[in-house]
Amino acid sequence: MSNIPSDLALFNELAATLISEEEKNPVAERIDSDKLYETIDLSLNDGAMIDDAFKLLLKEVLISTPKTATNLFFNQLFGGRQSKAILGDLLAVMLNNSMYTYKVAGPQVGIEQEIIRQSCNLIGYGAASNGTFPTGGSMSNYMALVMGRDAKDPECRLNGMSKPLIIYTSKESHYSNAKNASFAGIGRNNIRYIKADAKGSMLPAALEAQILKDIENGGIPTYVNATAGTTVLGAFDPIDAIADITEKYEIWLHVDGAYCGSVLFSEKYKHLIKGVERSNSFSYNAHKMLGTPLTCSIILVNDKKHLHDSFSNDADYLYQTDGDDFNLGKTSFQCGRRNDALKFWTLWKSLGTNGLKDIVEQQFNLANVALKYIRNNPDYTLYSFDDSISICFNYKNIDPIALCTALYENQITVVGFGSFNADTFVRLVTINANNSEQDILNFFKVLEDFASKTPNLLNIK
Ligand SMILES: *Cc1c(COP(=O)(O)O)cnc(C)c1O
Repeated sequence: MSNIPSDLALFNELAATLISEEEKNPVAERIDSDKLYETIDLSLNDGAMIDDAFKLLLKEVLISTPKTATNLFFNQLFGGRQSKAILGDLLAVMLNNSMYTYKVAGPQVGIEQEIIRQSCNLIGYGAASNGTFPTGGSMSNYMALVMGRDAKDPECRLNGMSKPLIIYTSKESHYSNAKNASFAGIGRNNIRYIKADAKGSMLPAALEAQILKDIENGGIPTYVNATAGTTVLGAFDPIDAIADITEKYEIWLHVDGAYCGSVLFSEKYKHLIKGVERSNSFSYNAHKMLGTPLTCSIILVNDKKHLHDSFSNDADYLYQTDGDDFNLGKTSFQCGRRNDALKFWTLWKSLGTNGLKDIVEQQFNLANVALKYIRNNPDYTLYSFDDSISICFNYKNIDPIALCTALYENQITVVGFGSFNADTFVRLVTINANNSEQDILNFFKVLEDFASKTPNLLNIK
């Protein structure tokens, strides 16, 4: 039976259980995937489940779910918890608005628009800019690609693709670029993967050379995706140099800042996205560097006309009151749309822009702790560079894939591996701003202790 007060009380109890469990066991007890259904009762049945059994089962599920908020989770491009953002997200669930109309979302529309307006100001977009909250960074990239396609070939919205459109991204960029080329009708074979330099940043000269080659062969250069924080190394493509090229050949420039675009909040690190105001669109994920719950992705467009041209659709049954500026469904991909703005707004409002800056800079501080530790310790080989919160390394001559898997299977710490050119390495992501310097040093200690107790890991690289 539906009973909000009693279920909210249960929620508080379960959340308290989870938090104390996280302190005791920062890495969840792992269930082998082939034993999942026999270990924990996930079955759905004809009969109801009574209260006590239901509660016990929920606790079991919580305890065995991977813990992404603890100080031993470094596996993903998100981690930790910002409590004010959690508060906002819980309220969004209670309110359960859909973001398409002012009639249904009211002030939530203003909350979303305020985030967009402030973000546009911070990156230096002008008065015609606007944006929306897509379902994630992949969808942000998709929306950017569709706008770039439509800007180059407006007819294609009515008649489908008829021109040989070509798009460009670095070989270090996010894999959504490939899927999106397929979804947008451009085709995976019409992406050009541009070489990156030794630090993982796109080489502008290689981009221009490829563009000239495509023009010579009758192709139509349409869209360039530049990345602010590549998935493996956390590298930044040189936006100014790329913008010189996209302006010259009239190509849409999108900056994918899903991972590290939030440097826009830091005077100290903003130079990494220098030139971003020259882009046509820019996206960033607040659920990565800013630590809001998943998902919270924002796409900004220098000229909102493109958002309308590509995504608006009249629907008399829906848009019955208020102007387009307040009916956000006119510029979104979805119809019904979750309120992802409130959690970011509660975080931003409560900490101020300075507080967001502190969150971002703390991640670089932690990265510097890790860099320093690795540089001062001859047992380690470093593969990453300054100004990145992805710290890539190998320890002794231990195979990084075997090491990460063993650390995970033995519930020591959760960390992933990555590759760049011919090298494969452990990738420590210092994105949890709640961590302290001690937590980072503890990670290395835990790893070294484990390696010394597991001699068969050695010498298998
Ligand atoms: C994470 C990431 C994405 C994808 O974002 P999702 O929200 O996971 O879809 C895209 N680009 C980059 C550079 C990313 O790091």
